[in-house]
Amino acid sequence: VSARAERLVARLADAEADVLLVSDLVNVRYLTGYTGSSGLALVGPHTRTFITDFRYVEQAAEEVDPSFDRRTASQDLLELVGEALPSGPVRLGFDDAHVSVRAHARLRELLDDRVELVPLGGRVEQQRLVKDREEIDRIAGACALADEALEQVLSEGLAGRSEREVAVSLELAMRERGARSPSFDSIVAAGPHGALPHAQPRDVVITPGQVVVIDWGAELDGYCSDCTRTVATGTVDDHTREIYELVRAAQLAGLEAVRAGQGGREVDAIARAMIEDAGHGEHFGHGLGHGVGLEVHEAPRLSKRSEDELQADSTVTVEPGVYLPGEFGVRIEDLVAVTEAGCEILTGMSKDLRVVR
Ligand code: ZN
Ligand code: ZN
Repeated sequence: VSARAERLVARLADAEADVLLVSDLVNVRYLTGYTGSSGLALVGPHTRTFITDFRYVEQAAEEVDPSFDRRTASQDLLELVGEALPSGPVRLGFDDAHVSVRAHARLRELLDDRVELVPLGGRVEQQRLVKDREEIDRIAGACALADEALEQVLSEGLAGRSEREVAVSLELAMRERGARSPSFDSIVAAGPHGALPHAQPRDVVITPGQVVVIDWGAELDGYCSDCTRTVATGTVDDHTREIYELVRAAQLAGLEAVRAGQGGREVDAIARAMIEDAGHGEHFGHGLGHGVGLEVHEAPRLSKRSEDELQADSTVTVEPGVYLPGEFGVRIEDLVAVTEAGCEILTGMSKDLRVVR
């Protein structure tokens, strides 16, 4: 963790700030290790300060990286920012994407004229885009845990249980294996309901002979996983199998296209072209993928409008789908770590069409 603040400082050198005020809690966690809900970090070449309030003193003592000097505010964390800054004129970068107008005004009021406030959003997010080895290992751990949990649930069969029951047992299976929580609300969507890409589990019972989309993930050690498999509760007809194989081929083509230097738009286009060529372009309405890390949706994006270029050690999902209104949906999603030559797939479950009870 301590190397992350070093890297941030190296990036600040060419930006217009001497010290960065980090207020977004996910960014604070990334830089310091602190997981509580009240905290600020100040990072500069000679500044490593973490500020929390009295409720979190013990938690901070346990979690915050020792390279940070810890301070405790009585209530308003911003009150301690001024005294933590180096002397003389200081350009203090703040995250204009997360700091409210009110907090900005408060900060201006608390700091004297030697401090210039510089809007500098997204610096930590840019750094989070490229994962270190520890982060990739944790994401891989979350993926492995989630895979095991779904295996258990599928072995118990789906038909005869409601979508909600399946979602609940999946979440329980993840927690039993050590997940802090699901990394997002699980999707379990059978038959025509699967044609909604963001379907919420219903109290409707899954019947034999349906196609079921399951999109789930675990949060383990602060890091998220994200995976989708589409399974069948009985033999499927040729039309269904054809759509399934189309999505699988598009997903494999997408995976094949992932490598450092490739554009997010290009990878999306390669997978999308296969679905369009089969006449289902209008049935694939979402982007191909997104980064995953401390948050389940991060940069980079794989989509028609993405301007991201993939970098080694970024993570990204590849998740094409075909959604046939009134019939069914198929989505297949893997989470991968980008490498110079291609990618390392972190989600391990087979993508052969699986028939369960
Ligand atoms: Zn997903
Ligand atoms: Zn996803």
